[in-house]
Amino acid sequence: MNHPSILFATSEMAPWVKTGGLGDVAAALPAALRRAGHDIRVLLPFYPALRQAFPKAKVIAELPALASALPPSRLLIAKATKEADGLPLLLLDCPSLFERPGNPYVAADGNDWPDNAIRFGLLSRVAALLGQAASPLDWRPDVVHVNDWQTALAPAWLRYEGGAASVVTVHNIAFQGCFDESLRHALGLPDAAWRFDGVEYHGLLSFLKAGLQLATRITTVSPSYAQEIQDPAFGYGLAPLLRHRRDALHGILNGIDPVLWNPATDPALAAPHYAHYAANRLAAKRANKLALQQEMGLEPATDRPLFGVVSRLTEQKGLDLLLALGDALPELPAQLALLGSGDPGLQDGFLALAEKLPGQVAVKLGFDETLAHRIEAGADCFLMPSRFEPCGLNQMYSLRYGTPPLVQATGGLADTVVDVNDATLAEKTGNGFVMTDGSIDALWQAMQRVTAAWQDKRLWQRIQQNGMRCDFSWRHAAAEYSQLYREVLGQ
Ligand code: ADP
Repeated sequence: MNHPSILFATSEMAPWVKTGGLGDVAAALPAALRRAGHDIRVLLPFYPALRQAFPKAKVIAELPALASALPPSRLLIAKATKEADGLPLLLLDCPSLFERPGNPYVAADGNDWPDNAIRFGLLSRVAALLGQAASPLDWRPDVVHVNDWQTALAPAWLRYEGGAASVVTVHNIAFQGCFDESLRHALGLPDAAWRFDGVEYHGLLSFLKAGLQLATRITTVSPSYAQEIQDPAFGYGLAPLLRHRRDALHGILNGIDPVLWNPATDPALAAPHYAHYAANRLAAKRANKLALQQEMGLEPATDRPLFGVVSRLTEQKGLDLLLALGDALPELPAQLALLGSGDPGLQDGFLALAEKLPGQVAVKLGFDETLAHRIEAGADCFLMPSRFEPCGLNQMYSLRYGTPPLVQATGGLADTVVDVNDATLAEKTGNGFVMTDGSIDALWQAMQRVTAAWQDKRLWQRIQQNGMRCDFSWRHAAAEYSQLYREVLGQ
C-alpha cells in the first residue's frame, strides 16, 4: 500500500465555493495527490454552484436518515475535469440542507445558518461512514482526511465505532464549530464520546475539538503555525490540547498555483500597458509599475518605491500599524497602493489617507482579482505586517512576482520569507524583509530598510531573484501529506 487511498472531506472547493484558504487547498492538494499516485476522492456538499457545474453527476448511493436530526441524503459522483485533473468528486445531495444561495456558512443577513450543526454534522457523519464497513460504496479509503470544523466531527465516529484512520487539518483555529450539548443525540454520536477527552468542550459539543482530540494525526498549514497554536496567545482555547497531542501535530506549508500566478503569462499583465516578465527579464517589470500608478491615480514617480497591499482589512492583518504611520510615507519617501475590504474603521482610515496624500497613496475598496495580480506585479514591495497568519498566500505570490515582501515573523510568513542581511545574501536566500516585533516603530524601521535597499538597484535585483527562484508548487506539500498518510497506516 505505497499510496494509501484517501477520502478528502471539505466544505468548500475553488472555483465553485470558496470563502478562504481551504477552498484553494481543496482545489489543489487532492489533484496533486492524485498526480502523485493516490486514489483520492473529494467529498463535499452538492451546493447550487456544483449542481450547475455538474448537471450530469450520477447517483451512486441512497443514504437513509443516519440519526434523528439527519435527513436522508444521496451521493452523486462527478469528475472534476479541467480544474483538477479528472479527480472524482463525491457530492452529498441533501437539498433541505445545502440548496441555499451564496456563502456556504452564513445567510444573507450575515448570520450563521441556524442549522449549521445539522448541515455539517451530516457532512461529517457521511465522511465517517465512507470510511466504515457499513459504507454503501465498494470503494473504501485507508485514510479519511477532514478539514476545519465543518468536517472535524468525522473522527469521533471512526474512533468510537471503528473505521479508517483519520487526519484533521486546521486552516484557521479561530473557527471551531461549538454547539449545544443536546445535538450529540440528534447527530447520533455514541454516549461514550461525551467526555472531556472526546467531543465535549466546556459543556458544549465542539466539532474542531473532537477532531483535534480524536483524529489519528493533526496537520496545519505551516510549520511555524503548528508551533504557535500550542501557545495560548494563538490557540483560541485549544493550545493545551494541542500541546498534549504535539507528537501527532505536523505543519505542512501550503503551495500556490504556479500557472495562475506566473508573471511570464499572467493575463492581467497584457499589453499595451502592462507587461510580462521573468527572473531573467526583470527590466520589463518597470512597465507594470507605471501602468499601476496610472490605473490607480498615483504620480508616475520613479525615484521612490511603491508599496503594495492586497488584503482583508481586519485586525489579524496588522494594517492598523500601516495606517498609523501613513502620514509619514512622503518622508521615506514612498508610495502606497492598497486593495482590500473589511473593517469599516480601516476602510475609512485608508480612504482618508488617500485623500490627504493624493498621488502618493491610492486605495481601492472591494474584491478585484485582476487588480490584485497587477499590484503583485507593479508594486516594488508587498506589505503583510500580519499579527498571525496560518500560511498566507500573498507573500508567496509576491516572491514569485519579484516584489519582495515585508512581513511580520509569524506562521507561514516566517516559513517563507528570509530576511535580507549579509549572510542570507551570500547564501542567495535573502528574499524579503522580516520584522520581529509587531510595533509601529518596527514597521517604520522595516519600511526604511526597504526604501534604502530599493535605492541600490543591484542589491534590489539580487533580492528579487532570490525570491523568484523559490519553488512553492504543491508538489512538496503533496509529498509530505503522502508520507504522513503512510505513517498513519504504520508503514
Ligand atoms: P487570508 O486567507 O487570511 O485572507 P491569504 O494571504 O492566505 O489571506 O489569501 C488571501 C487571498 O485572497 C489571496 O489570494 C489574495 O490575493 C486574495 N485577496 C484578498 N483580498 C483581496 C481583494 N480585496 N481583492 C482581490 N483579492 C484579494
